Amino acid sequence: MARKQKRKKGRKTKSAGRFGVRYGRKIRKAVAAVEERTKALHNCPKCERKSVSRIGTGIWKCAKCGYTFTGGTYIPQTPLGIAAQRAIKRLAERGVEIDMGREEETEVEGVVEE
Ligand SMILES: [Zn+2]
Repeated sequence: MARKQKRKKGRKTKSAGRFGVRYGRKIRKAVAAVEERTKALHNCPKCERKSVSRIGTGIWKCAKCGYTFTGGTYIPQTPLGIAAQRAIKRLAERGVEIDMGREEETEVEGVVEE
């Protein structure tokens, strides 16, 4: 007869505790890791206060100033998004003409590959 273990409920599973024993430990662990970052309050890009929360897929809203913006699905700013914004900024500095030429080049390449 085993003694009843006194364990704090949901200590290890965190937010994935709602799934009980289902879906496997690895997946529940991954979900908990993502949700920990998703549910945390993030810094607002407009007013700099830590009050941005997720209101939908990729939609984020600041509770203090009401600023709503798009971002990553689970975090407001993804590494890829930051890189893309940097590239857009760089192209805008160079001018629109170069930007257009680059777009045409990539389109031609895509056709050749197919
Ligand atoms: Zn704000």
